[in-house]
Amino acid sequence: MVVARLAAPIALAAVLSILAGPGPAVADACPAGEAALGVSRTVEIDTTGGPQFGAQYPGHDFLQPGEVVLTFDDGPSRAKTPAILQALADHCTKGTFFIVGRMALVEPQLLREVAHAGHTIGLHTWSHKKLTATSAAKAKEEIELGHSMVEKSLGAPVAPFFRFPYLAAPNSMLAYLKERNVATWGIDVDSKDFTTRKPEVMMKNVLTQLKARGKGIILFHDIQASTAAGLKTLLDELKVRGYKVVHVTPKQHVPTIASYDKRAEQMIAKRQVASGHKDVHPPPVFGPDSPAGSEAIEPEVLPWLREQQPEVAGPPAPPPGTTSAPPQPKKPWWEF
Ligand SMILES: [Zn+2]
Repeated sequence: MVVARLAAPIALAAVLSILAGPGPAVADACPAGEAALGVSRTVEIDTTGGPQFGAQYPGHDFLQPGEVVLTFDDGPSRAKTPAILQALADHCTKGTFFIVGRMALVEPQLLREVAHAGHTIGLHTWSHKKLTATSAAKAKEEIELGHSMVEKSLGAPVAPFFRFPYLAAPNSMLAYLKERNVATWGIDVDSKDFTTRKPEVMMKNVLTQLKARGKGIILFHDIQASTAAGLKTLLDELKVRGYKVVHVTPKQHVPTIASYDKRAEQMIAKRQVASGHKDVHPPPVFGPDSPAGSEAIEPEVLPWLREQQPEVAGPPAPPPGTTSAPPQPKKPWWEF
């Protein structure tokens, strides 16, 4: 493996130690062959001192021109995550999933499927509260209970990678994450997939911003219909346009806190009793018996989803008569 120092300030280099190496031989290993995005390189991130990434934290950019990091927030969701896993698998590529603790509690097996597919598992609080609108004690609880819940649900350590809900980061919690040696992940490109059910709108958001920036950490949500429906086509287009996917992984894990572990374990045990231990023999994520296409979401999660991710209607329908307009241009509909 090649050791590559970042072209970054010395102060940053002191807290970051990134190992970069080539990804797998995509053309050899992937059914899609040369058409697959694959992983161009894996960047191993030393989270000592809590480094911060994304446009919100300038100076910490490790991406080369044309490189993207695929990130997915708010899941796992039985209704949407499997389609996203499939799109990523079709391209033999890897992303990072920032998991909400409450979602992990409901879908532990699906969380394990995400990890088993080789994606990085990060943290997105216990219940997706806006941490700039809570007390420091409550914000800490959101971080730590989320961390414990995701680890206990997964049954393995997770990456000390954290993303604030709504990207709303109070200074006190930024400092806390540094103390905890947890990396904070902002974004560079926003798919805005929560504003539309139309995949073409989501795609255009991503491609327009990428064209302007040339690279970046892309934010998706694996609870959103536009991303579930459009990710495969978007990845196809990223490949055509020459973008390369960087997979980020942690150099080390950060211990959870025992008191929060206990709370998480109690909640998991209570849920297993309530569900008759259903997740011991869960349905397959993929294949003919998979409920992947189902819109079924656990009833207790629905109010939270509606509250956090309100659907916004897409653009208005064209006026009557426009359907008989001249043929559309040959360019794909997401071109601009
Ligand atoms: Zn979120």
